[in-house]
Amino acid sequence: MVPFWLFFIASLVFLALFPPTAPWSERFLTPLVAVGGGAYLLRRGSLGFGLGLLFFGLGDLFWAFADLRRLPRGLYLEFPYLIGYAAFTLALLRIPGRPPRLALALLPLGLLGLATAFQPELGIDRIYAVWEAALLLLLLPRLEALFVEGLDPRRALLGVGVLLFLVADMAYAYLEADGGYPTGHPLHLLWTLGYLFVALGVGLAERFPSPFLPQALALGGLFLTPTLIMLDPSPLGVRLLVLYGGLVGALGLLYALHLDWRRALERGRRWTRFLEALARLSPRVTQTLSPEGVLLQALEAARELMPEVVGLEVRSRRGLVGERASHSLPIPLNGDTAYLHLKAPPKEGVPPGFLGLLGERIRQVLKQVEWSALALTDPLTGLLNRRGLELELPKLVALARRYGTPVSVVMMDIDRFKWVNDTYGHPVGDEVLRRLGQIVKASVRREDLAVRYGGEEFLLFLYGADRQAAKEVVERIRSRFRTEKIPPIPYPLTLSAGIAGGEVPEGEAVVEEWILKADYALLRAKETGRDRVTLA
Ligand code: GH3
Ligand code: MG
Ligand code: MG
Repeated sequence: MVPFWLFFIASLVFLALFPPTAPWSERFLTPLVAVGGGAYLLRRGSLGFGLGLLFFGLGDLFWAFADLRRLPRGLYLEFPYLIGYAAFTLALLRIPGRPPRLALALLPLGLLGLATAFQPELGIDRIYAVWEAALLLLLLPRLEALFVEGLDPRRALLGVGVLLFLVADMAYAYLEADGGYPTGHPLHLLWTLGYLFVALGVGLAERFPSPFLPQALALGGLFLTPTLIMLDPSPLGVRLLVLYGGLVGALGLLYALHLDWRRALERGRRWTRFLEALARLSPRVTQTLSPEGVLLQALEAARELMPEVVGLEVRSRRGLVGERASHSLPIPLNGDTAYLHLKAPPKEGVPPGFLGLLGERIRQVLKQVEWSALALTDPLTGLLNRRGLELELPKLVALARRYGTPVSVVMMDIDRFKWVNDTYGHPVGDEVLRRLGQIVKASVRREDLAVRYGGEEFLLFLYGADRQAAKEVVERIRSRFRTEKIPPIPYPLTLSAGIAGGEVPEGEAVVEEWILKADYALLRAKETGRDRVTLA
């Protein structure tokens, strides 16, 4: 089988080498392109357009043969064309369309085609003219998608192919009515290109190395053919008709190209915002150290690229931010799976690489959260350790200064803890520390810092609390600790605390001073009998 490409290249070389006005070029080249294209499309399983091209070509060849042998003219010569029109109609009907708006600019051409029905001198050709008008009307909604939904390369060539073919046919009818179609008229170039584009668009376009090639071909065809016709001394009506069809089509394609370009630009901007948001994604250490903050940031990042996203969920961690929705996309997460929830299916599809990139970044940052949690918290109580304090305190101070919020510092120490250890053993002492850690965690707010400062000393930074408020918090902790039953310890446990600060911190040095003052206050609480809270 001769490769299809070779056939087309041969036709183009043929066209370039021989004057297209030579009668035999018109007689045989155009039908051969149609027959070849039709045979190719039939082989590729495109029945409608394949049969259409095949029978248009056969029809032309019949005519050429009949002329050569001087056979009588008659209806029998028209049958191939009628089959071709029927097949084209069915093929166009099977393409989904949308209400035409821009494509309506071609409506005058269709009306012109319908008007030819009232020109009796056209004879049998009137059927074709009316049918062409009908085909053009069928093409309008199908061309619309091409014009406004971006350039699908197949549609571009197919739509332009059908358009060129229809314009050529109408111009032909005009010439016939005007006194006969002169042999060797460049109109047949329009047919040839039309057939070629239909065959390429239906059969081959998705195999083009770049989507721009079919678009460039389609645009080139639309600009080139009117130019050729304009150079020819045809009646003005024909020239205007061809020019109109070609220019409207070309402007439509240019507009689509412009829309495509704008969409690509917007896509690029969204990718940039998404990547920037991913780069900003980082663990924020609070005393809770939950991955929720990370998921929330990841959700925001995903929204930059896909506005339909409403929720993000990591099943195994039972982490959900945002909300669940009817559509979800799985994100591979290294054994685990996360889900993006979407309020609607993504309008522009899922950008390639998006889910992989997002998943990988989430995995990295969650891992970072785990490691930071290990490095910055105390394993026994789950509170921040001193390293965690060093990292978090400057943030808290900066925040308090910016918003003019007071911060109180509390130093707490378990009373007679040595005695607990000595009497009941270290494991019991550890359990006491663990319980107090839980109580502290449950008693402070998210913005506060709770630190295991020394062996059994706890340091709290209460955000937005003056001393009185701080005292209330500590009293709550103290009374909860007292009611805690830790077997085998038979008596209620107590603690002492000192409070300092309670003002807006002017800097970290001031807070360091408050820590010392809280420590003094704690000392006074111990000296004055323990089990109490003292203000510095
Ligand atoms: P006071 O009321 O004056 O605070 O008396 P105290 O016995 O609590 O004295 P102090 O605060 O000096 O006691 C510190 C004790 O805390 C020493 C050590 O046995 C105990 N300790 C420190 N870290 C740990 C720990 O991780 N586990 C256990 N079980 N005990 C610890
Ligand atoms: Mg103690
Ligand atoms: Mg102590």
